[in-house]
Amino acid sequence: MTITENAPAGAASESGAVEHVDVVVIGAGVSGIDAGHHLRERFPDKSFVILEKMPGRGGTWWTHRFPGARSDSDLFTYGYAHKPWRGPSIATSEEITNYLDEVIEEDDLKAAIRYRHEVTAASWSSSEHRWTLDVLRGDTGETVQMTCDFLWMCQGYYNHQDPYRPEWPGTERYIANGGVIAHPQTWPEDLDWEGKRVVVIGSGATAATVVPAMAEKAAHVTMLQRTPTFVAAVPKTHELAVQLRALDIPEDWTHEILRRAYIEQFNELTRMCLETPDEAREFLLGEMRPLLPEGYDVEKHFNPSYRPWQQRIAVVPDGDIFTAISEGRASVVTDTIDTFTETGIRTSSGEELEADIVVSATGFNLSALGDIPFTVDGEPVDVSQQITWRGIMISGIPNMAYVFGYFRHSWTLRADLVSDLVCRLLAHMEAKGATTVTPTLRPEDADMEIRPWSDPENFNSGYVMRSQHKMFKQGDRAPWTHMHEYAEERHTLPAADLDDGSLQYR
Ligand SMILES: Cc1cc2nc3c(=O)[nH]c(=O)nc-3n(C[C@H](O)[C@H](O)[C@H](O)COP(=O)(O)OP(=O)(O)OC[C@H]3O[C@@H](n4cnc5c(N)ncnc54)[C@H](O)[C@@H]3O)c2cc1C
Repeated sequence: MTITENAPAGAASESGAVEHVDVVVIGAGVSGIDAGHHLRERFPDKSFVILEKMPGRGGTWWTHRFPGARSDSDLFTYGYAHKPWRGPSIATSEEITNYLDEVIEEDDLKAAIRYRHEVTAASWSSSEHRWTLDVLRGDTGETVQMTCDFLWMCQGYYNHQDPYRPEWPGTERYIANGGVIAHPQTWPEDLDWEGKRVVVIGSGATAATVVPAMAEKAAHVTMLQRTPTFVAAVPKTHELAVQLRALDIPEDWTHEILRRAYIEQFNELTRMCLETPDEAREFLLGEMRPLLPEGYDVEKHFNPSYRPWQQRIAVVPDGDIFTAISEGRASVVTDTIDTFTETGIRTSSGEELEADIVVSATGFNLSALGDIPFTVDGEPVDVSQQITWRGIMISGIPNMAYVFGYFRHSWTLRADLVSDLVCRLLAHMEAKGATTVTPTLRPEDADMEIRPWSDPENFNSGYVMRSQHKMFKQGDRAPWTHMHEYAEERHTLPAADLDDGSLQYR
């Protein structure tokens, strides 16, 4: 991946003057670049910058450089509505960042993005009706200030620098004896696993990606999981895409047709998982069985205790992990860790797993609004006590929108919907002559039941459950709820009433 140059002009406040723009977008990942596209298209006269703390674009696709890093969504829905996807349905990290580079080029966003600019604090002033941001410049080490009218948070949902690292007994003796523990989020560039014995701890999408990728040249890869995950084999390239491309159909038509096909296929699976979970379980297990060796214990290793879709289903292109298992290059152990030893890991049932390298694909630390401290008129905001407005704004925080994509469906489907709504809101404020918009509970919301950020019945992945307490809350009625499905939000968000009293304008 290339390092992307800092925007040459106007780096925050070298002259000492505080620079002001209409909108600041935080983060140059998939969501921040989408925000930039929408601002360029809808508000050519508005000034904006995208502040990104890392030295390059891509967010998740910049951070994750582990072997085989790829999407598990199809790129027709993970790609933007406005920009046709021309590659295979499941794409590598590099293919995704190349696509993002094209968007940056086409929308002329290069000069708007400021790399190595980390927002470390955000303060709202009602009298000045603007945000003041503290921005730490990684290139000079100085903290400068910027002001803006509207803050568009595209910082993602997890801490990029600090992955979740459970503590296991014995790691020090394993490391002292030459063992290596690598984390997918901070992958050591010079790690060589050719001919090595590898244990990957974890069972989620990352483990399902890294296991077959490392098994291509490792001596053997063992996936050590505490609990199984549903794994679904999908074709890397959709048959329909091959047919349409062979007919020389325009790429934007192919994009739209494939988008609809994938959305419908996904909605159907989601419906089945929610309405007839036993049938969905049997369907998923039935799809896996023929891809694994005869007599393989599918129940033990691939049948989770939770309902299908209560946690993410790991998607594997062309069943690559099942092929690696069938060819004896990879295996699965479902057990817990008793201790690391000098030479690997001993499980609770006493099995010794010899390992030159251990990969801890153990997930994220969730982060609420990038863990940036927010103040409103000098008062610190405890985000965990606030309530979401449609999963886009937060009660009591003026002129701020955030992007949180779907857990199950492609993240970008929601980023696009949120971008549309934020642009509609900015235009609405202009039309009203308002400088401030604040989500505020209405008198009829006074008796509302306050619910946790994520309902465990609906979605209960480990990283969500571990960090619930840090996250803002939701209510029991619209517009104070979130985490709805795309099938619903594609209709409700474009129709959302911006004058229903839940947004206060000044
Ligand atoms: C390995 C992996 C594979 C995935 N695959 C899929 C998939 O196939 N489909 C899917 O839907 N989802 C997938 N996801 C989820 C993925 O995170 C989202 O799809 C999407 O990339 C999130 O984009 P984002 O721009 O919102 O956030 P991020 O990608 O997290 O980017 C946020 C950016 O904001 C920057 N930032 C944060 N705080 C600050 C600050 N204070 N100041 C300045 N900059 C800041 C970060 O440095 C980062 O660059 C995957 C996640 C991982 C880890």
